[in-house]
Amino acid sequence: MVPKKDPLAPYKSKRDFTKTPEPKDSKVKTKTDLPTFVIHKHASRQLHYDIRLEIDGVLVSWAVPKGPSLNPSDKRLAIRTEDHPLAYATFEGVIPEGLYGAGPVMVWDIGTFDNIHKSTSLQQSVKDGLLEVFLHGKKLCGKYALIKTKGNENRWLLIKMRDEYADVERKPTKTETRSALTGRSMEQILKNSQNNG
Ligand code: MN
Repeated sequence: MVPKKDPLAPYKSKRDFTKTPEPKDSKVKTKTDLPTFVIHKHASRQLHYDIRLEIDGVLVSWAVPKGPSLNPSDKRLAIRTEDHPLAYATFEGVIPEGLYGAGPVMVWDIGTFDNIHKSTSLQQSVKDGLLEVFLHGKKLCGKYALIKTKGNENRWLLIKMRDEYADVERKPTKTETRSALTGRSMEQILKNSQNNG
């Protein structure tokens, strides 16, 4: 039998774990009925948001340059990136200069999610290029779709689906700028890291 390919091999190959504070592997998984989602705010070369959904033991990830919108008319570009370990869901800190993704990382939102399509597994939905999930976050709630565009394997769109949580006025990336985990601002995350090291 061919051993199962490590889904985290690309993640590990990009990082030097003797230097980065990021987690190497998933060791802990708190028991909840629903899978975890997290949205990291990440000020690397260019500020972006990383949405990560727990699917089959890893965090399947997309980088969203403009971040999520609550307006169903907005289609936010979401670039599929390498799967991350589950332990990454609660990672908040600063990736040192010179390393892959250098810059502060905030847990901007965290919670659980439901697969709206009960008849299709999340894994299959990723392969099909159409994920529809219901987020139970601290900032984001309700239905969101991730749709793979034609032509480019890694280009997806993140779209708020119409429901009672859709809101054209509320812009949480502008007004709700603190960590959902620690309440810290990006500046505080940076400063705390300088104090510690
Ligand atoms: Mn990122």
